[in-house]
Amino acid sequence: MMKNIGIIIESDKGKIKETNFGMITLARAKDAKLFAFVMAADANALKKDLESYGITTIVTLLLADDQLNNPVVRAKALINAVKAHDISAVFGLSTAPGKDLLPRIAALMGAPLVMDCIHVDLEKKVATTSQYSGKTLAGIKLTGEVLVLGVRPNAVEPVKFPNSAEMVEFDGSHIVSNGFKVLKTGEADRKAKVSLVEAEVIFAGGRGMKSSENFALLFRCADTINAGVAASRVAVDSGWVPYSMQVGQTGEKVNPRVYIAWGLSGSIQHFAGMKTAGMVIAINTDENAAIMSNSDYYVVADALEVLAELTKLLEI
Ligand SMILES: Cc1cc2nc3c(=O)[nH]c(=O)nc-3n(C[C@H](O)[C@H](O)[C@H](O)COP(=O)(O)OP(=O)(O)OC[C@H]3O[C@@H](n4cnc5c(N)ncnc54)[C@H](O)[C@@H]3O)c2cc1C
Repeated sequence: MMKNIGIIIESDKGKIKETNFGMITLARAKDAKLFAFVMAADANALKKDLESYGITTIVTLLLADDQLNNPVVRAKALINAVKAHDISAVFGLSTAPGKDLLPRIAALMGAPLVMDCIHVDLEKKVATTSQYSGKTLAGIKLTGEVLVLGVRPNAVEPVKFPNSAEMVEFDGSHIVSNGFKVLKTGEADRKAKVSLVEAEVIFAGGRGMKSSENFALLFRCADTINAGVAASRVAVDSGWVPYSMQVGQTGEKVNPRVYIAWGLSGSIQHFAGMKTAGMVIAINTDENAAIMSNSDYYVVADALEVLAELTKLLEI
């Protein structure tokens, strides 16, 4: 039987986020129609990209600006669109907006939810996600008419599947939120410019970075290639950077293609947050630090000296 699968697309300033393509690849299933739910009014700009990954229908949610900023309204609009298109599985990204939106959708629909999925078998209704700080993988069997699935960014390699998509609109202007009002919105601070869970490359600093001033240098270098900047708990506890940058068991779980560790020992607790990185490169003065034997490449050197050299090379 033909299934209808819904995929919530995230865009940033009118441009589609690259991490959507892995999610679409994961959501693709035999005999399925793929519906992309697009929030922004710029659906036409996203059309070509979405078609090249096999989307069959692009549903533009027509919402006013104040509605778009309201997570309850967005969740309700998506639920209405899901029902209108007879969707049996809703995919979204396990990013900051996804972590806000998907649980709301699941709760309002009484639907089962699994976040941070790395694999989904829609036939068997089994979602695979990591547990216990990444020590085990759990296959979770879901029951319910509609499944809600958060996909870990960068977990799946995108594979193209050219197609042509029809465009439809869904008018959500009548949707209101009860008891939830957005008072103020603003730009995130500069440090959060590149989302860690979505970053392709992450520069992570530890105790060896020594100060917040040196972290500013790490930001400067990372900015040249649009890399995210993360930190160990020691760097956070020392007050050099905010907690939102901590990677590890009690911090963010990240999955970049490349993770560069600057002056960081590679404790078990830190690894719990980044061990699925595609490639690890370590710069440390101690050849015997745990991070070295767990890295693909390492440099035995002073992190600040290497950083200065790399910045010079990248800024040319
Ligand atoms: C319950 C619990 C939860 C925790 N959760 C987390 C977590 O989520 N994330 C996390 O990161 N930690 C966590 N920790 C802390 C963790 O155990 C480590 O203490 C921490 O990760 C170490 O941080 P670090 O690597 O920066 O510091 P260190 O272990 O002190 O390592 C610093 C490294 O920098 C090197 N170095 C020093 N100077 C230089 C230089 N100039 N150039 C190059 N290298 C240099 C040193 O050789 C050393 O290897 C947790 C601990 C507990 C108990």
